[in-house]
Amino acid sequence: ILRITNLHKRYGEVEVLHGIDLAVQAGEVVVVIGPSGSGKSSLLACVNFLEPFHAGEVVFDGRPVGYGPAGGAIRQRVPEQALNLLRRELGMVFQQFNLFPHLTVLQNVTEAPIHVKGIAPAVARAEAMVLLDKVGLASKADSYPRSLSGGQQQRIAIARALAMRPKLMLFDEVTSSLDPELKGEVLRVMRALAEEGMTMLVVTHELGFAREVADRVVFMEQGRIVEVGTPEAMFTAPQSARTREFLQASQ
Ligand code: ATP
Ligand code: MG
Repeated sequence: ILRITNLHKRYGEVEVLHGIDLAVQAGEVVVVIGPSGSGKSSLLACVNFLEPFHAGEVVFDGRPVGYGPAGGAIRQRVPEQALNLLRRELGMVFQQFNLFPHLTVLQNVTEAPIHVKGIAPAVARAEAMVLLDKVGLASKADSYPRSLSGGQQQRIAIARALAMRPKLMLFDEVTSSLDPELKGEVLRVMRALAEEGMTMLVVTHELGFAREVADRVVFMEQGRIVEVGTPEAMFTAPQSARTREFLQASQ
């Protein structure tokens, strides 16, 4: 459903992704691990076209996301309108929850379906309640985000992304700012999503999650993919010395 080919990304003069090749099949959970600054967030931002990239190709669901020739100015092959349509099918959850503080939990979840997709409010609310139930927070529908814990807010953020019925969910270190016990409740929701067959590209430092939930694990370092493998292969017999060192240091 997602194919990334020879992706290069620069910030100014500095190239931070040096030719990334990665494909994600429908229903697959791919977990990206790697040291700070290795380019994991930049990779997700290119997939979502939050950031332009400079060479290579990202094709989502058979459609190109964006494209630019190496060395040249960034050229967008895809008109903004088409990109917005693509982005609707991509759910993204970040480390910061970014909920709308002035809206209730239910309103946070129904905002985009009603105003971006044009779904009837009653339908959107009914679907939102199903999603809130799924993340264990139906009872908080009328609360405001500030009255919720970080873990609860993050589960709302996941429900909000799911409300757009995305074909692919992108997660960027969604548990990094949470206390250990709150991490667990968010990881449980993500695990349940994976078991339901949601296609997921997940950046995380939670190696336990990678090991138990991933179909494939990707190890990135310095803007390159060093190694890709099943969790068993990656965690029990990493091929690269760098992967081995990283995993040892992260235990
Ligand atoms: P972390 O685990 O700390 O989140 P990461 O793997 O997500 O790291 P990125 O955030 O993708 O890494 O950063 C990759 C490189 O790009 C780093 O060297 C970083 O300093 C640089 N970088 C990231 N965002 C920008 C930006 N907006 N402008 C300039 N440089 C940036
Ligand atoms: Mg990051």
